[in-house]
Amino acid sequence: MNHFEIREIAGKGRAMVATKDFIAGEIIFEEEPFVSHQFSWNAAYGYAACDHCMRPLETVLANVRRLANNQTVSMPLLQHDPTAAWFQQFTQCARCKVRYCSEDCLMEAQKRYHRVACLGAFRADDTHPINILNETWKKMHYPPETGTIMLLVRLLAMYQQTSKKQEFLEQLQSFQALIVNREQKIYHKMLGENFEQQMEQLYGAFCNAFKGEEFSVFTTPDAFKTLMGIMGTNSQGIATSVLSQWVSKVSELPLPDADKAQLDNTIDELYAKVGEFAGEFLNNEGSGLYILQSKINHSCVPNAQSTFPYSNDIVVLKAITPIQAGEEICISYLDECLLERSRHSRHKILRENYIFVCECPKCRAQISEPDVTSEEESDGEMDDYEDDEGMD
Ligand SMILES: [Zn+2]
Ligand SMILES: [Zn+2]
Ligand SMILES: [Zn+2]
Repeated sequence: MNHFEIREIAGKGRAMVATKDFIAGEIIFEEEPFVSHQFSWNAAYGYAACDHCMRPLETVLANVRRLANNQTVSMPLLQHDPTAAWFQQFTQCARCKVRYCSEDCLMEAQKRYHRVACLGAFRADDTHPINILNETWKKMHYPPETGTIMLLVRLLAMYQQTSKKQEFLEQLQSFQALIVNREQKIYHKMLGENFEQQMEQLYGAFCNAFKGEEFSVFTTPDAFKTLMGIMGTNSQGIATSVLSQWVSKVSELPLPDADKAQLDNTIDELYAKVGEFAGEFLNNEGSGLYILQSKINHSCVPNAQSTFPYSNDIVVLKAITPIQAGEEICISYLDECLLERSRHSRHKILRENYIFVCECPKCRAQISEPDVTSEEESDGEMDDYEDDEGMD
């Protein structure tokens, strides 16, 4: 049974409210995504993740060697490789050879979307309309990635495959609707400078890939923009890494101090090696839409946090401070570093990415702060947003 409810809060709209007291660290809920997908470049570069749940599909040694681009790297404590226990269970789609971490994931994918989404022998065919669509997206959206058109492809496959089409559409509509005149910023954010042109091009490739009458509910220009907007404002980033799983496992080993210090050194060296070649791109990365989690509002002083403790796409919401029954549950849409920035900077980022104005306790307390960013924050892009100050 859930210990929260979704309800309207005056002046704020939809919110998640606790219906019992939570202590810091307590789990509020766990949730599988409505849909998730690995990012397009991440997949293209060979980051090995289950096509359904994004669990890593490499041994930790293979992961480190690939990221370091060096097949001679060695590392200790391989008996603690998190993948070892899973390796026997890895499987693939017999037709298209897409890989899964388990028979369960393969079956779940088949049940929900892969029966119609499987490209079979066309998976590597550049002229297949789905591959053209993905390539069109990739040319517009270089790493670091924040979304993928393949998430929408999977959504449409789910729609095509489900016998409960009305229910599916209602679930999709439960994601935050967009405020029409603010949409532009989301598209700008996703597609960059020439977003209008890019949007046209992407829309063309999308319609080409989904020609059937059954998709007409998604292929009007407005419906396509709405889908893009849902993805842009609601998707939650997902990152999995067998290396970080291994690191947290071996870091907890009861070792003598000297061995511990040596292990820390080894870990630092490994990160230096992989960082040299792979830079910041160490994880399997993707994003997902979560029905419950997407209902949680932002606060710059959050009382809860989304975590991914299973190294797959299951989100676990945890209290990070005590929460009392009746209190709203909030997470931060900004990372810790951004949370420390001025009210003006936080508002700029939230407006740009999520299309709302934050009125959390911290922002209300700082309301008298001047509407300028601090020195190190004025990077020139601010100007775009000065004009619409009055609209808020
Ligand atoms: Zn899986
Ligand atoms: Zn397949
Ligand atoms: Zn705030």
